[in-house]
Amino acid sequence: MLERVLTNDDPVQSVKYLSTRGEAPVLSFNEAMLAGLARDGGLYLPESYPVLSRETIAGFAGKSYGEVAKAVLLPFVGADLDEATLEGMIAAAYGSFRHEAIAPLAQLGDNLFVLELFHGPTLAFKDLAMQLLARFMDHALKQRGQHATIVGATSGDTGAAAIEAFRGLRNIDVVIFYPHQRVSDVQRRQMTTAEGENIHVVALEGTFDDAQAIVKSLFNHTAFRDEFGLSGVNSINWARVLAQTVYYFTSAVALGAPYRPVSYTVPTGNFGDILAGWIAKRMGLPIGRLGIATNENDILVRALHDGVYETRGVQHTQSPSMDIQVSSNFERLLFELSGRDAASIRAKMASLGQSRGFTLEAPLLAALRAEFDADRTSEQETATEIARCWDRSDMLIDPHTAVGIHAGRRRLAERPATPMVVLGTAHAAKFPDAIEKAIGLRPPLPHHMAGLFDRPERFTVLPNDTAAVETFIRARVGRGPAVKTA
Ligand SMILES: *Cc1c(COP(=O)(O)O)cnc(C)c1O
Repeated sequence: MLERVLTNDDPVQSVKYLSTRGEAPVLSFNEAMLAGLARDGGLYLPESYPVLSRETIAGFAGKSYGEVAKAVLLPFVGADLDEATLEGMIAAAYGSFRHEAIAPLAQLGDNLFVLELFHGPTLAFKDLAMQLLARFMDHALKQRGQHATIVGATSGDTGAAAIEAFRGLRNIDVVIFYPHQRVSDVQRRQMTTAEGENIHVVALEGTFDDAQAIVKSLFNHTAFRDEFGLSGVNSINWARVLAQTVYYFTSAVALGAPYRPVSYTVPTGNFGDILAGWIAKRMGLPIGRLGIATNENDILVRALHDGVYETRGVQHTQSPSMDIQVSSNFERLLFELSGRDAASIRAKMASLGQSRGFTLEAPLLAALRAEFDADRTSEQETATEIARCWDRSDMLIDPHTAVGIHAGRRRLAERPATPMVVLGTAHAAKFPDAIEKAIGLRPPLPHHMAGLFDRPERFTVLPNDTAAVETFIRARVGRGPAVKTA
């Protein structure tokens, strides 16, 4: 039994976390969060999913984002965080947002909605999880009197969100790797102009996938990992996926759940954001279809259509945060849909490492298609969608959101009676070149970001080489007693 319906009288249970590869220790919430990646190379998932009753979900109507967040997160954090502490962290995390609703819904067309997830300090949805994760980690490390070194690969937005959320914290150093010359100027400056002695920004000579591979190899070097107390804040960190389930609840309830289903289309790269939707569904939220929307980096679309998950070279697009070939969180979904068959996941991941791909067996493929759609949006379609939203709905959208809206329209046409929510993952001002190309206008930066182009930049260019990266970390990162992650 993987599910457990919660009633209001239940005591808070301690959900434990297990690895998708079945060969790492079972951990508590704090331990899994501090570990990031499991020791066997797998990703952590809860042993069982708490299920919220219909009444609980119905009761979210009219509640604030913070109140819903507390109710959704509490069953997962187990004994590691008490209710009052969690409440305080949620208030602090979302206090810096530039919209009172935190994640407001905007209507774009008949039964078509955009969930605006870009009102946080760095203008992308990553802020929603990262602001909370920083508080979770800081709290856990202070309790233990330990230090951690966060290493993270970014295609642009994760790095900015992490730097903004963690800068100035004393128990944590943050080392962020972004693909050199492959992020937008706004994205780069958000990372390189942030102040804080605990922040170290690396421009890696390679692609996002190279950066992600470097991070994985740092984790797999056990002695190094232990010496520096390495930890991860990429979307492989369970706490991030968890924090992202909240806005599925708030938006679905605003559109009539639990009394009617709501479908979602999610601009997808590493599969974290859409996985959060699938988790919300497991928790009892009546989600209709889950639509994966990719740009021309379409590994997931090909996997759903052909049953073969196969990496190809990365294409550079105007939606760079999705210029990804290996969708790490897909492993979590495969693990669940294969009946938690860790041996089969190990075999698939070995095959991915050796021959750049693996096959989805017929039952697994059928299970995937039963819940998910997948659509690729071309560069031209992305530009056309930006123009259409501007011309017909007076809405300025970013290229990632455009990828989602284009796919969402197509799926809504198949099932016009079910509301379709497209996740608006970034603010248009973050990608001014793409917007200017599509509609001839350059969106201004929001007023709270004025000065971004005047501040000095700090970053180090490094070759795509693990040894060089380790040398850099050794030289830069101060060490307290390193956190011992399980
Ligand atoms: C990170 C990101 C995505 C992709 O999210 P995943 O969780 O990696 O699938 C999409 N859009 C924007 C703007 C992002 O920053």
